[in-house]
Amino acid sequence: MMFKVPRGTKDLLPEETGKWQAVESLIRETCRLYRYEEIRTPIFEQTELFTRSVGDTTDIVQKEMYTFEDRGGRSLTLRPEGTAPVVRAFVEHKLFGSPDQPVKLYYMGQMFRYERQQAGRYRQFVQFGVEAIGSASPAIDAEVISLAMDVYQRAGLKDLKLVINSLGDKESREAHREALIRHFEPSIGEFCSDCQNRLQKNPLRILDCKVDREHPLMNSAPALTDYLNEGSAAYFGEVKKSLDALGIDYVVDPNLVRGLDYYNHTAFEIMSTSDGFGAITTLCGGGRYNGLSEDIGGPEAPGIGFAMSIERFLMALEAEGKMPETESRLDAFIVALDEESRKEAVKILGSLRREGIAADMDYMDRKMKAQMKAADRQKAGFVIVIGEDELKNGAAGVKNMADGTQETVEFGRLAETLKSRS
Ligand code: ATP
Ligand code: MG
Repeated sequence: MMFKVPRGTKDLLPEETGKWQAVESLIRETCRLYRYEEIRTPIFEQTELFTRSVGDTTDIVQKEMYTFEDRGGRSLTLRPEGTAPVVRAFVEHKLFGSPDQPVKLYYMGQMFRYERQQAGRYRQFVQFGVEAIGSASPAIDAEVISLAMDVYQRAGLKDLKLVINSLGDKESREAHREALIRHFEPSIGEFCSDCQNRLQKNPLRILDCKVDREHPLMNSAPALTDYLNEGSAAYFGEVKKSLDALGIDYVVDPNLVRGLDYYNHTAFEIMSTSDGFGAITTLCGGGRYNGLSEDIGGPEAPGIGFAMSIERFLMALEAEGKMPETESRLDAFIVALDEESRKEAVKILGSLRREGIAADMDYMDRKMKAQMKAADRQKAGFVIVIGEDELKNGAAGVKNMADGTQETVEFGRLAETLKSRS
């Protein structure tokens, strides 16, 4: 019997984890510059947290959640997204009481969605996301968007398109909702069964349908932006001004609706416009979620955030030829020529590593030539040779692989010498 990785998941072998680590540290560094601090929440949560917040007419809740009952009969769900867990933690730990508002958090971790497998869509994927909770200032919306753009741009991506929209406040959404029902109701029979269900429950979701995307009524549907009340329109105006102030280019798309129910006011997506990218072009999605805290039993705490998957980030880097170079760094490789030398090599290896020098040796009883080759493959900076003579003299041959120079160095001074030469 051959076991395989479960459908929709993948193993990351060392060749790839190097790229991941490069992207991860770039993300952490960017968050530090914006003063967003890391939060880690559990991989699973009470199912109800997601059904309440994400919304029970969404694809995530209807089709994509990994939900199971534990041995105690509780319904748990592998987190499909990060915002609800973070807001849950914000409420549970009373972070709203901290003097530093808004609370600015970021997370990076596995998410789980039972989706049809295709390029850029996995059942287990890693999302990096940020949440700024506690402020209703349009400037923070722009900051969050700017952080997302910054992460991509620092990684070298250029083919990016930022699309923004406003979903308005409750009142605006209600007016728009009624207009949508009037628009779709007469012909709803031509739409998929999901859309038929959505019509009364949540007609906005129809605009995000992947099945009926080409239906002519989609393009002529009433745009949210035409239904914004004065306050919502002013808010949107301020967000745009802040983006302008930051020098960030954007396009307004009145049909942009986000996949989750909790969004209002600002919604945005960042796409890759690179030719090599493929069919799914969305790299990042986010928006404002005033009211989410109250929905899950917390105090009023307006928030905004985004999420991007590392998988799609890497696809964009690949498409633009900007994949980070990752070199495994080996400072020294010890070539030992016989049994006695090998014993000495083990000792020296230990002392080098204690001095912070990345070092390795041969464990396969290989001949000298094969050991040299291994050192070469591993891109060792120095090769240390120990044989009968070297043992006798208590000094090893040290070859600098960069320039080919050689010298003899006492065993006890190897670490010090390597450090001074590199
Ligand atoms: P889509 O319309 O592509 O399904 P979504 O609205 O479900 O996206 P969000 O929930 O907003 O996506 O997730 C934010 C980001 O997470 C997406 O822009 C994308 O980069 C990434 N993402 C979402 N689902 C997956 C997945 N199954 N595999 C890999 N990345 C994903
Ligand atoms: Mg989705």
